[in-house]
Amino acid sequence: MSTCIFCRIASGQAPAVSLAETPRVLAFLDIAPVNYGHTLVIPKEHHESFLDLPDDLWLEMGQVARRVAQALRTTLFARGINLGMNNGDAAGQVVFHAHIHVIPRYLSDGLMLFPQHNYLAGDMEKVGEQLRRALAGQGA
Ligand code: 5GP
Ligand code: ZN
Repeated sequence: MSTCIFCRIASGQAPAVSLAETPRVLAFLDIAPVNYGHTLVIPKEHHESFLDLPDDLWLEMGQVARRVAQALRTTLFARGINLGMNNGDAAGQVVFHAHIHVIPRYLSDGLMLFPQHNYLAGDMEKVGEQLRRALAGQGA
């Protein structure tokens, strides 16, 4: 039996309140929601993070996440939706099976977004140049 909790949920070996599925993707409620309706969208096959996902599977996850977001809007009257994905331990990933958080938001829910900073003078251009080169090398 897999030790990965999301593989076990995907195969029906562990329980979850599931919402929707496609042949390769499953959406189910997060057990510890930020707000009611907080949903996780996962690939049924094991991939550790977003960086490991094949493009077509990533696309299918995005499509399911958007359907869930629409349902959160119409059913739970979400005023906004945050999509979140923690990839890697430094990013706060706890379950190492790729998943998108779809979080319904309300004006009064009191949640704060990430703190932001300023670049030191000249650094924004340098970082932009580094990343542009890397992306051009990938053919992006
Ligand atoms: P992350 O890896 O992005 O930090 O978060 C993992 C998420 O999975 C958490 O929000 C946590 O509440 C949720 N989670 C962990 N174990 C289970 C589980 O067994 N069932 C469900 N439904 N959610 C889980
Ligand atoms: Zn897994």
